[in-house]
Amino acid sequence: NSFLDLNLSRPLLRACEALGYSKPTPIQAACIPLALTGRDICGSAITGSGKTAAFALPTLERLFFRPKNRPAIRVLILTPTRELAVQIHSMIGKLAQFMTDIRCCLVVGGLSTKVSSKLMLANWTVGTVCNGKTLDEEVQEAALRSLPDIVVATPGRMIDHLRNSMSVHLDELAVLILDEADRLLELGFSAEIRELVYLQTVSISVGNTVVFCIVKLCPKRRQTMLFSATMTEKIDELIKLSLNKPLRLSA
Ligand code: AMP
Repeated sequence: NSFLDLNLSRPLLRACEALGYSKPTPIQAACIPLALTGRDICGSAITGSGKTAAFALPTLERLFFRPKNRPAIRVLILTPTRELAVQIHSMIGKLAQFMTDIRCCLVVGGLSTKVSSKLMLANWTVGTVCNGKTLDEEVQEAALRSLPDIVVATPGRMIDHLRNSMSVHLDELAVLILDEADRLLELGFSAEIRELVYLQTVSISVGNTVVFCIVKLCPKRRQTMLFSATMTEKIDELIKLSLNKPLRLSA
């Protein structure tokens, strides 16, 4: 029951220590070893359970301790609100503080001045493209076009960028995280997005969501981790459509 038992590299163990984490939370102890195998995971976990580190630590371990190929978005984290996206982005910065050369970009709708100025004050070690100085759409677009390693996004803003920019794509995505999936599914599917050819044939309810539209744009071969506070029929449908033989965890 220690981080040392979880097969994580030294820079990640140092980060946990620096953050004052003495031992893994139950969801971390359950999720990290399984996620490291590359299997799909579906976890019942609420905010406060430590789920961000539960998906971020194994993802950083699996993808970023090897020489890099060409720039590409390798990890996409979808979360329902910009506040959650800001928190996850900041947490990844802290967990990756002893790693080098990782770029993590935040893609969200209009940030309040309060949040922006807080971000500006934060000491970012990750995310040169998104160091909090300017977070308007144009800057996000430029950041995305440079293909950062990790993108933390709200679905509406992400689909806008995928639709509007030829150079922003998910062709090389290796890990997709669906955070707070129950709330992600509440985000509707606008008439405008309906025009996207991808979904014209999909009539089921989950198919009518922005989040599923993005799932369809990801490569089939990938690892997907889904977390939700509640497990409803709709979530089951999303799991069937987005995950491959997932391991189920609850903590
Ligand atoms: P989350 O559920 O990911 O939003 O995390 C909730 C809070 O728990 C955050 O402030 C984390 O920094 C903290 N946390 C995550 N993992 C641990 C841990 N293993 N020990 C102590 N605190 C943790």
